[in-house]
Amino acid sequence: DVTYKVLLLGDTGVGKTALIRSLTGTEFKANHLTTVGIDFVKKTFDADGALVQLQIWDTAGQERFRSLTKFQYRSTKGLLLVYDVTDRTSFETLGYWLDSIDSELDRNNKEPVPVFIVGNKTDLEESRVVSTQEGKKAAESHYVHGFLETSAKNGHNVSEAFNKLADAI
Ligand code: GDP
Ligand code: MG
Repeated sequence: DVTYKVLLLGDTGVGKTALIRSLTGTEFKANHLTTVGIDFVKKTFDADGALVQLQIWDTAGQERFRSLTKFQYRSTKGLLLVYDVTDRTSFETLGYWLDSIDSELDRNNKEPVPVFIVGNKTDLEESRVVSTQEGKKAAESHYVHGFLETSAKNGHNVSEAFNKLADAI
């Protein structure tokens, strides 16, 4: 079997931990979730008939300072870059995160590490400040693999996001 390390990145509070919990079936909690004790979770995906195991790494608060270590990036084969559709700052810092990814992982070759931009918290439609169209445009202008919107709260597109990443890898 093949195991690939993938990483969730993006500003603090956008829902990275909640997305992993939603994927793995841990109950969604409305209070702030922190990552304690575990470095990653493993889950197997069917990528076009091939079984692919993703080792899904969360950050444990270091992203608050927008500085991850080389160790955290090492051997990463795919990324979900997450923002919050109700928080414009988290959308505007995508460029910062992509620069950081580019300085650690070479995306300018024939087989670049796939990155998907994920706009989370679609269940909070009444508080949305970043439109779907803006998200799509950002994904195009940054040359990432794809874009989708999710809700860790109601599960919308959560498994799809990880499935697309597994397929791309
Ligand atoms: P992280 O810092 O990126 O890991 O963000 P967390 O997963 O800790 O989530 C930050 C806050 O947003 C928590 O209070 C979560 O309950 C909440 N949250 C995360 N995802 C969603 C979502 O899809 N919808 C709603 N309504 N709240 C969310
Ligand atoms: Mg977290």
